Amino acid sequence: MMRKKIVAGNWKMNNDLAQTETLLSEIKTQWNKEPQARVIVAPAFTNLYSAFKALRETPIEVAAQNMHQSDSGAFTGEISAAMLKSIGVNTVILGHSERRSHFGETDAVLAEKVETAMKNEMEVIFCVGEELEDRQQGNEFDVIKAQLEKGLFNIKKESWGNVIIAYEPVWAIGTGETASPEQAQDMHAFIRKTVAGSFGEEIADSVSILYGGSVKPGNAKEIFAKEDVDGGLIGGASLKAEDFMAIVQAI
Ligand code: PEP
Repeated sequence: MMRKKIVAGNWKMNNDLAQTETLLSEIKTQWNKEPQARVIVAPAFTNLYSAFKALRETPIEVAAQNMHQSDSGAFTGEISAAMLKSIGVNTVILGHSERRSHFGETDAVLAEKVETAMKNEMEVIFCVGEELEDRQQGNEFDVIKAQLEKGLFNIKKESWGNVIIAYEPVWAIGTGETASPEQAQDMHAFIRKTVAGSFGEEIADSVSILYGGSVKPGNAKEIFAKEDVDGGLIGGASLKAEDFMAIVQAI
């Protein structure tokens, strides 16, 4: 079983064009030791093409933070899979908790977005995560199972090569609070078991499952050391080259 290790930076709505160029050149400068992981950055839509051009000669990959489920048409303000692919972006984050909570993205919409991504042969970083209340009530495993089954599991077996799962407990995102390495491991193992239940052991063993939620240089190593944690989706700490590269090197 050789799962890919991955560290992805979700920049959210941060960095204009000049700031994007600066951060990427800092990341490139600090790229000393070849990391044992795929490294992905997800700048805002307006900066994706310049990021793609800046990183074209490097192993660093570029992802989008979202996309629309339709191929084209009257969806003012939206971005399609074909538009992303046309600028060299083949990976998209879907189902981030901020998309779910602030922009009303439901499991049903996410299932459509995933289907569109698969149809366009794009790779998806599919996010799942429970709210604090879910965990306090002991419902976290049920919530994650439902998010997986409704949003992700409609895909074909052949599509799993294009899927990365990110477990991001909502209570740990941007709060400074992290799941303990044991809590992360328990949920990651559960996610893998759930994938195995529907798609078989081979697929479950090969899918990379990232942890997200206040990962920092100081806690990355112990989280990444867990057997079922294959890397991280990093928010705040991905905005500082030094922190992001320290997390990359923690793999
Ligand atoms: C995220 O939003 O994907 C995330 C993990 O954010 P942070 O690292 O800031 O908690």
